Amino acid sequence: MPALPEYLTRTLLENYGVPVVEGFFVRIDDNLPDELPEFPIFLKAQIPGATSRKKHGLVRKVETRFEFDSNLDDLLSPGDRGQADGVLAAKGLDLKAEYYAGCMLDFGSEKQLPGGILLFSTEGGSGVEGRSGTLVTIPFSLLSPIKAEDIVKELAVIDTLENPDEVAVFLKNLISTFIGYRLTVLEVNPIGVLSDGSLISVDCRAEFEKSAVKKAEKYLFFPPGLKSSSDLTPLERVVELINNADPAGTGFFRQNRETPPDGALRVATNLCGGGGKMLWEMTTGSRTDIYTMNESDTSGGLSAFKSYRILRTIFAQKGAQVLLLTGSGMAFQNQHHLAAAVWKALRESPTPLPALLRFGGTDEDNARELFERVSADLPVQVKTYPAEIFPNAMVDDIEAIAMDTPPHVQPPPAPEGEPSIRVEIPPGNIYFYPEKWNSEEEPPSISACPTGYLLWNKGKLEINPEAKCIGCLMCETASLLEGNGEIRIDLEMPAEVD
Ligand code: SF4
Repeated sequence: MPALPEYLTRTLLENYGVPVVEGFFVRIDDNLPDELPEFPIFLKAQIPGATSRKKHGLVRKVETRFEFDSNLDDLLSPGDRGQADGVLAAKGLDLKAEYYAGCMLDFGSEKQLPGGILLFSTEGGSGVEGRSGTLVTIPFSLLSPIKAEDIVKELAVIDTLENPDEVAVFLKNLISTFIGYRLTVLEVNPIGVLSDGSLISVDCRAEFEKSAVKKAEKYLFFPPGLKSSSDLTPLERVVELINNADPAGTGFFRQNRETPPDGALRVATNLCGGGGKMLWEMTTGSRTDIYTMNESDTSGGLSAFKSYRILRTIFAQKGAQVLLLTGSGMAFQNQHHLAAAVWKALRESPTPLPALLRFGGTDEDNARELFERVSADLPVQVKTYPAEIFPNAMVDDIEAIAMDTPPHVQPPPAPEGEPSIRVEIPPGNIYFYPEKWNSEEEPPSISACPTGYLLWNKGKLEINPEAKCIGCLMCETASLLEGNGEIRIDLEMPAEVD
């Protein structure tokens, strides 16, 4: 899912009455204004896809015109962090307190309609990793806007909140921005509290689906005249190919261009949905002892075939010491299918990583049970968590599970012979070996197919033309766990991941 940098997100917020810190945006070839706002000024490089700018020196406080000019030059030059679209220059503020707020989509369930979720905390800015106890979650409808007085009632659980009316109006306008522009994530961190109790957005970011952008609003999301960031890494190109071949669901992957700080733990991430990304940023955004190898977002009901391919790419990152996978706990993707993809990637990758896995959403118990059964036979350690666990707990376990040098292993050979079934979308080849199932009785691999695409007809495998393969991997999983390995699925990968 594309991320919108701060300077563009500010415009969306202002259009719905959310105040933002005074500032201006400087592109590479722009002339500088003769007059600047009062110093200090904060310069923030606007690099597409980059997060945690503060800890990587991409946010700088300047006190003089000379410092302004020289830092601006430096931030606009291409570096190992990528090329900035430009630099946002924002006025420094004297803040009494910092809060946090974020909106994300909730895809709903059988019992609950889809909607939005607002997260609010009275701890914002950096150093927020201990904030789990102060977080308030407010669900809202995408159709009828929530009223400020209803938000005030929800905020009553925070006894220390001095300005609930101001906060409620700010949050109401934040929700209106989220709904109005059909965003998937909208975050303000921090919300600054000024001495008179009023609130202002100090830093913000948004994510959106390209297809949800209205024609008339394209100029807000894709402003003309910007240099594009077509500096894809070989692995990012792999994910682009994966998405082209299997467009359903979100498969976003961007590698960190910066050099890891000495001694930092290098964590590869698979964050499932905007909620997972937000939780990861909230938990680790200010930590210099954790280096995030990549941003990622796999969500929106993608197939397990696609999850597997993206995980294989995530595992192929040189220098990664551990994988952390987490969603927001409201996954649209069946978590048992996701677990099957993780298991397959762990056993078939030449460079598997020890993994911390937090499954949340549908069928999560089966997801965790799968790993209870198979973990002992994997070449790396795996730990799973229930959805109720806040990612803080996972972050605390990174050091214990991370490996200085994760193993290089010989992956199992590709299945032999011709595939019995070639699935076009999502792409994959299914192999059935009748010699491994000498019985008239239906094998568990076929009974496990949730769509009825695989049929057992008098001791023979057939496909049901009325049904569809959804790429869930349940047939192969059951074949390995309950059967005799009679079904194998081959999901081809570009050579870069090996
Ligand atoms: S054949 Fe059935 S069980 Fe196997 S991947 Fe396709 S839908 Fe899933």
